Parts: sequence; structure tokens; C-alpha cells
Amino acid sequence: MKLERRSVFGWGATAAGHAPCDRGLVIHYDSGNLGLHAKDHSACRTYWKNTRRFHMGPSRGWADLGYAFGVCPHGIVMEGRGAKRAQAAQPGGNTTWTSCTLMTGPAEDITPAAIEGVRQLRAWLRTNHGLGTGVRGHRDFISTSCPGDKAYALVRNGTFSKPPGSGGVEDDLIGLSKGSKGEGVEAVQEMVRLAGHGKALGRGGVDGIYGPGTAEGVRLCRKDVGSAAKAGYGDKITGHALAQLIAAVGKHQGGK
Ligand SMILES: [Zn+2]
Ligand SMILES: [Zn+2]
Repeated sequence: MKLERRSVFGWGATAAGHAPCDRGLVIHYDSGNLGLHAKDHSACRTYWKNTRRFHMGPSRGWADLGYAFGVCPHGIVMEGRGAKRAQAAQPGGNTTWTSCTLMTGPAEDITPAAIEGVRQLRAWLRTNHGLGTGVRGHRDFISTSCPGDKAYALVRNGTFSKPPGSGGVEDDLIGLSKGSKGEGVEAVQEMVRLAGHGKALGRGGVDGIYGPGTAEGVRLCRKDVGSAAKAGYGDKITGHALAQLIAAVGKHQGGK
């Protein structure tokens, strides 16, 4: 992971208080299309400094830059308040979740480098700071366009939940079945949860183990989008089942 600490920007220790911030990662964006992907990384550093100045200025008056981290389109992780500090990013989750902005606008695609940067940041936080498995978007906390439809689609389909070095998420999910374990299963379970069937997962929740609860959750998701969904229909992630899972998430989230 290419991490630029606060010292790179000439900042001392943050004035923000300590907080657990261990439920997972929350993805944000900038409301403007900044075009940083087409510029040199020095533009990202300037953006990061300006964002802090704005957040600490008269219109916001915050103690520090609002976010814990940023990942630029070049895939470089930039430290804001840092790990385990209270943020001014997602009301309702400022002391329990860890924020990460992608520095993109609504029309901008999330670069493969940025996706990899988020995965690296998440893996690093999980190893070194006890971060939980959750991955959410700002709009999961309050009514906002953030993190934009493009990034939010990646939140929902499990792209950010994959380990660093993974390819496209879909290829890795097809073929998972009862008895499978790991991050791919977590992505399936997160989709089941986002489709409104988190209860089916049982007490284990999103635990990376494809057991009877996960199978039932997948079956219910398929049923939601018109499948006959007989017994056994949730036991394996076929290409068709995956397409139905994605559709079920869209249907449930769209109805909110
Ligand atoms: Zn946001
Ligand atoms: Zn950059």
C-alpha cells in the first residue's frame, strides 16, 4: 500500500478524539467532477490540503479534515484524521465506522487503481486496527448522493470487499457453494443482507461461511426476482443465481 501520512502534508497530530471506528469502511466522494485521474498526483495532494483548509475554515469549522482517509484515482492512500479517530464524515457512524473518500464526482468512473487502493487500505486496517468486515456508502447513513451511483454500485456488489490483488468480483463468486469459505462468501452474504434477507444469515451474519443460512438467503433473493426458488436453489452461485442476486439487491435498495 502506498500510504501518505499526515507528515507528507505538513500536518501534526490530529486534534480529533480517539474512537473505536471498527465496524467497517464507509465510502465517500466529492460532489464535483475533479478530473484527478487525468492529472499528476500532485493535484491530489493539493486537493487534500484544500479540503482540509475548507473543513477547518469558517463554513465548516471542524477540528481537522473530516475524513479518516482518502484514496485517489492513482491508488495512493492519503491519511486524513487516520485510524481510530472520531470523524466529521457520516453522522451516525463518525465514531463507529472509518471513512474513506475517493475524491471523484458523480460522472467519474472509479479507476482500477482506486479500487485496489481501497482494498489495500481495508486489508491494512483489518490487520493493524481491528476493522470489521462492513463496507458501506455514505448514503447508508443519511439521505445524500454520496458516494455517487458508480462507487455505490461497487459497495453493493462486493468489489471493495475483495482482498487486494483480486480481479473482477463476479468471476470469483461463480462456483461458490455450500461449504465454501472466505471473502467471496462474505460478498455473497453482504448482497443477501443488502437485498433485505440478512435475517436468513442467522446469528453468524456476514461471517464468510456458506452454510444453510446463506443458502436460504440466496434462495430468498432469487425468489424476490421471480425465480421458482425451490429447495436447493440457494446452494450454489451459478451465473444465473449471481445475476439474480445482483437484481435482488437493486430491487430492494431501489425501493427504499
Ligand atoms: Zn460522503
Ligand atoms: Zn493521486
